[in-house]
Formats: sequence, C-alpha cells, structure tokens
Amino acid sequence: MNFDQLNIIKPIRNALTDAGYESATEIQSKTIPHILNGRDILGCAQTGTGKTAAFAVPILQRLQQGSRHSLIRVLVLTPTRELALQIDENFKAYAKYLQTRSLAVFGGVSQGRQVDGLRKGVEVLIATPGRLLDLMQQGFVNLQAVEVLVLDEADHMLDIGFIHDIKRILQKVPAKRQTLFFSATMPFSIRKFANPILKNPVEVSVTPVSSTAQTVHQSVYFVEKKEKAGLLINLLKEKSIHRSLVFTRTKHGADKLVRQLGRSGIVAAAIHGNKSQNTRQKALQDFKDSRIRVLVATDIASRGIDIDELPYVVNYELPDIPETYVHRIGRTGRAGKEGIAISFCDAEERSELKDIQKLIGFRIPVKGKEINEGQLMNY
Ligand code: AMP
Repeated sequence: MNFDQLNIIKPIRNALTDAGYESATEIQSKTIPHILNGRDILGCAQTGTGKTAAFAVPILQRLQQGSRHSLIRVLVLTPTRELALQIDENFKAYAKYLQTRSLAVFGGVSQGRQVDGLRKGVEVLIATPGRLLDLMQQGFVNLQAVEVLVLDEADHMLDIGFIHDIKRILQKVPAKRQTLFFSATMPFSIRKFANPILKNPVEVSVTPVSSTAQTVHQSVYFVEKKEKAGLLINLLKEKSIHRSLVFTRTKHGADKLVRQLGRSGIVAAAIHGNKSQNTRQKALQDFKDSRIRVLVATDIASRGIDIDELPYVVNYELPDIPETYVHRIGRTGRAGKEGIAISFCDAEERSELKDIQKLIGFRIPVKGKEINEGQLMNY
C-alpha cells in the first residue's frame, strides 16, 4: 500500500518520499488507519519492520488537527538512549515540512541541554523512563496535555526493570488519551502489563519473533573459543567485509575484541553500557560514515541501532536468550536487502545453538570445518 492510499497528508508524504520510502511496510499498512481513527494499538513488531514510522507518521498527522501550542502532546517511552535518538531523528525527518517540534531526553548525559529544549517547548517528547522521571520531579516536564502515549519496545523496558518508573509516569498522563503499545514479543506478562493501560485496542502483529528474514543468509562456524578472534580477522580480510556489526556477550569481551582487531590493522570500536554517551554516539557515527569497519556491541547497547546498508552481522558469542539471536540478525537484510549473519559456536555454546535452531525452526548451515553427521546430531 502506498502512503497516498493510507490518506497521509502531502507534507508528510513528501517527507517520506525524501526519506526514500516508496510504499508502506506491513506494520504501517496495518496500523496507520487505526491510529488515524484514534484507536489504541497493541502491536507486536520488531525493530526493522518500520514500526517507528507506523506510529510517528499518523501521530504527526493527528497533531496537525489540534491547536498548535508548545505543550507536550505526545510522549514516547523507549528503553535506550540510542532508540530515543533514533525515534527523534525519525520524527524530525517525517516532520520536515511541518512545524511540529520533537525532543529526545535520556540519561547518561548532563541534563542542561535537554532542559533548555524543554523550556523552548516541544509537542513530541521521546524519553527513557529514568531521565523523564528525574526531569518531572524537578518540575521541568508537565504531562497534563498529553494526548498520545507510545510505549516502544515494552518487553525490553520491562526486561531492564523500568516497570515501576513507567507506572509512576502513567499516573501523571491524562487517562483520556490514545495509547500505542509496541513490543517485539507478546508473552502473557506483557499482555498483563498492557491490559490496564489500553482501551479496547486493535491488535496488530507482523513477523513473529521466531522468524528470521528470508533475505538474511545464516551460517554457523564451529570454532574453539581461543580461535574466534583469528577466525573473525580472517573472515573480515578474506571476504573484504567493509562493514559489520559484531556481537559479544560482555562489555569486557567487546573491548578485548576491539584491541585484538586493532592489532591486526582492522579499525573497530565498541559500544556498550560502560562507554559514555558521547563515545557511543561517536562510534555509531564513525561506523555509519565508514570511518570504522567493525562495530562491536553488546545486546543492550545495540538493540534498535538503525543502520542502513548493514551487510554483515557476526554473533561472536551466541546469546543465552534465543530471541536475542533473531533481534541481532534483524539488523541486516532490512527492507528486502540481502544480509549475511555469521555465528561462532564454541563447545560451551552448543546448547544455545540448539535453542536458537528450535526457535527459528531450522538448522543453520554449517560453514568452515567439515563435521560428520554423528556430530551434527548433537546440535
Ligand atoms: P524501524 O523498524 O522503525 O526501526 O525501521 C527500520 C528501518 O526501515 C529504518 O531504517 C526506517 O528508516 C526504514 N523504513 C521505515 N519505513 C519504511 C518504508 N515504508 N519504506 C522503506 N524503509 C522504511
């Protein structure tokens, strides 16, 4: 479906064309009409499906109807700083030909500039829950005019323990509002959490979490732990991979790998929770601008990272939670582009691999060392 058929107004349509969007994605086609009609949404969609535009576009359109003032009319809650920045970037891109102002507030940086931004007045506030509460307690944020509340990546917000913060924020948002609730997974605990927040929501779901995009070619290498760095270096060199996102399990592991790559002449940077916000943003920008070839990330820091043209994702270490594998490799092969996801599996990670394969419903093709059928049976 195109944005014309979805009744998107011209200034927003033009901005979407500028962003290179030719037609709506599945989540957008399914969600936009309901949001324009004022309905609440319970949406199950992963990052990469176009879910940000699925809520940002109709929200911007609805905002044009009301009187334009400098009160916060839309509040988007999201788990990480990276996501907050990306959502803000999206809002700004789609509002290119509108007057609507948006601002992202998140922890890990001093609040001065965020407070300045709030003082100037914004209609759309994108926030991580902890910083938002801080700012509310200091009297910098008033949520009484909120008309639309978005909870983005709700499962992730609950995972990292934001539940109490969110509940406190909800008390300050008017009960009469539209609520859009998005989560990559929809287990019972999430539904239970969503239920009292939503009023007669429309349920929308795309690409169940267990499925991986057809356009992502997956493979696994069986490799000893101590040989992983060497294998990665060889792959990066041999396959002349110009840009890849590499996942490690720990912050320490990420830093160590960056040093090992550096010694082999491969320019890499790490992003994880111990890095300052500025360092993380710089690393991401350097990566986007191709000043560094390899970005090494832990899951929390990476989730939602929005990088166009990411051909390679490497699971240097397999995640404990099988769904994380799907999220990780969802970073590549977006919007129908081809992507490659390579996983390294050492002797201790066999059970993780088994769980991942069970979730995605197929056996990931094995690359590298030939192994016999008997060994394969164990995976
Ligand atoms: P998201 O799921 O919101 O993180 O979006 C994933 C990526 O898809 C982002 O890079 C968006 O800019 C892009 N995107 C969103 N909607 C469309 C669309 N209709 N056509 C092409 N790309 C899109």
